[in-house]
Parts: sequence; C-alpha cells; structure tokens
Amino acid sequence: MNKTVGWGFIGTSNIAKQWMAAAVRHQPGHEVMAVMSNSLSRAEMYAQDLKIANAYDSFAALLADPAVDVVYISNTNEQHKPAVLAAAKAGKHVFCEKPLALNLADAAEMVSACKQAGVVMATNHHLRNAATHQAIRAEIAAGTVGQVIGVRIFHAIHLPQPLQTWRVNDPKAGGGVVLDVAVHDADVIRYLLAEDPVDVMAYAQTGGMASAVEDGAMTMLQMPSGALVQTHESFMVPYAGTGLEVHGTKGSIVARDILTQRSAGTVEVITETGRRQLDIQHHNLYHYSLAQFAQAIAGNGQPAVTGEDGLKSLAIALAMLKSAEQGQRVRIDYPTVYAQ
Ligand code: NDP
Repeated sequence: MNKTVGWGFIGTSNIAKQWMAAAVRHQPGHEVMAVMSNSLSRAEMYAQDLKIANAYDSFAALLADPAVDVVYISNTNEQHKPAVLAAAKAGKHVFCEKPLALNLADAAEMVSACKQAGVVMATNHHLRNAATHQAIRAEIAAGTVGQVIGVRIFHAIHLPQPLQTWRVNDPKAGGGVVLDVAVHDADVIRYLLAEDPVDVMAYAQTGGMASAVEDGAMTMLQMPSGALVQTHESFMVPYAGTGLEVHGTKGSIVARDILTQRSAGTVEVITETGRRQLDIQHHNLYHYSLAQFAQAIAGNGQPAVTGEDGLKSLAIALAMLKSAEQGQRVRIDYPTVYAQ
C-alpha cells in the first residue's frame, strides 16, 4: 500500500486555510499532517479548525515529524527563507509562497539549497494554472495574433479589509503592491510570452490605504522580442475589474476577470475573420498546480512554477521597485542558480 504524502504547513495563513488545505486534500493520497506557527496556541487552534493532526511552534519540531514529506510555506514573506533552508536541509520537498524572499541573493540561496538537497521546489504563482491563461498562451504560440506588439495587464483591485495588515504597513514583511500583486503579473508575462523581460520603468504611489509601502504601481517592461508590456496594480480600486490584452500584428486577445484565484474569466480573440469567444473549460487553479507538484515529487516532470520561476518573477518585481524609487529605467538582473 502506498504511504500517504504528508504535508507540513509552515504558517497559519489565510491562503492555506482558504485554498491550499483543500487543494492538498484533493490530491489522491495527500494529507495535511502538521502545522507550525510562531505561537503554539495559534497552531493548535488552526489545527483544530482545519482538522490537522499535529501542531508545532518550531521548524525543527515540524520537520522532525516523520509524517511530513513536503512543506507548504505561507508565513509572511521575510520568513520564507529560513523555512525553505530548514526544509531543504531536512530533505523535504518545498512548495513556497511568493514572493520567495525580499532580495535576490536570499531567493537564489533558497533555490540553490533545494537543488543541492535534491528536493523539488515550487513557487505558488497560481495564475498560470488557470485555463484562461493556458488558452491565451496557446493562441499566442500558435501565431493567432501574429507578432506580439504589446500586452496590457489590469490588476488594480481593492484589498479586502481583513488583508489590510502587514501588506499595507510592514516593509520588513515584504508588504506593498509590487511584491504582493505585480510579482504575479511578472510571472504571467513570462508565461504568456515565453520570454523574460529585459528592463523596466515603473512608477509607484502611496495613495492612502498603505503607509510606508506602495499601494499602487504602473510599470512598462521591454521584452527581448521588442514587445512592450504595461501593467497596473493597486490595492485601492474597487470597480475596475481585472483583465489582460495582447495586441499583435494579426489580431488581439481581450481577456476579462482573469487575474483571480477563482476559476473564472472570459477570453475573446479578434482577427480579420471576426470575433471568437474561446470555450474555456475552467478548473481549480490550486488543484491543477498541486497535481503537477504531486507528479514532480513522484519523479515525473517539473512543478507548474519552479523555484527558478519564482526567482525570476522576484527579479522583475525588485527591478520595478528600484525603478520607481530611482525614477529611471532599470535593467533586470536574473541570477544564475548553482547546486553548490
Ligand atoms: P496571513 O496574513 O493570513 O498570515 C501570515 C502570518 O500572519 C501567519 O503565518 C501567522 O503567523 C500570522 N497570523 C495569522 N493570524 C494571526 C493572528 N490572529 N495574530 C497574529 N498573527 C497572525 O497571510 P496570507 O495568507 O495573506 O499570505 C501568506 C503568504 O501567502 C504570503 O507570502 C503571501 O504573499 C502569499 N499569498 C499568496 C497567494 C497566492 O495565490 N499565491 C494569495 C495570498 C497570499 P504564524 O504562522 O506565526 O501563526
């Protein structure tokens, strides 16, 4: 009989509770076996709430639990690095939240540590797991829109009141809309266009919801192919709706409501033959990525979003922040990762 693949959750987070616990349990043979918090009472309450067998208040205790094969790291962003390094050292596979870290050196060290330990590392950029994004990528790759000239990403949302904590007031925890939202858009761009942006110009604002971090940003990215990408992220815009447009020499793709955790959204393709609404067979984004991760840890293929992907999206997001701060164009630095 096959052993259960046991997950240890590091962080009593909202995302783990809202999406990831159910996504783990959706995978045949996978179960959440333990949770770890900086506070034992918080871990115990969380464990009781989510029906998780064991609760701990240290990495060491969770990682010593023989039932834990994989860790899911969703504490605040500055705590991802020590968690990943400890998990890799203990030989556990790693599914880490974005942004991987607050600087590139730390993120590169995390990815290297997992490589060196021979464990699988994934980054939780959910959007490329959506059927909508997969359909758009396929249309671009098939040449439906011809040469891509420009992409526009609309990701201005209203951050719900319960999430207005470290995200809006704590730079040390990696708060701010760029590391929270634009980093996802960076992954979307890389996924859709299958190339990595070269440089970025960005503006950021602190418009009233946030203090000490930015709560809005607009960015321009230049792609190696010559395509230009424009993004808009905000915590303060309740009614814009999300969307994405790809404009090429032979056609355009107009997608709405697709920068979301929900299985939702529409994609329309416009070419000389007319307008065509794609028939999207939606699936759960987190179920999809965990199915791929389950395969990867069984030795088949790669996670949907690897550690290196998380490193690259972080490189782009950090370049956005640097550009906004310096008021100038910034070249994006992609570190090389070695297994030491
Ligand atoms: P939360 O704000 O819900 O939780 C973060 C940490 O806050 C927890 O680990 C916990 O610490 C602490 N905490 C929770 N409740 C309390 C409390 N009552 N009192 C004191 N501290 C508390 O995090 P999110 O779920 O919003 O985000 C977690 C991570 O996931 C981040 O890295 C974020 O960027 C990422 N994220 C990713 C998404 C995706 O779709 N990929 C979506 C949302 C977030 P402790 O563990 O010590 O108990």
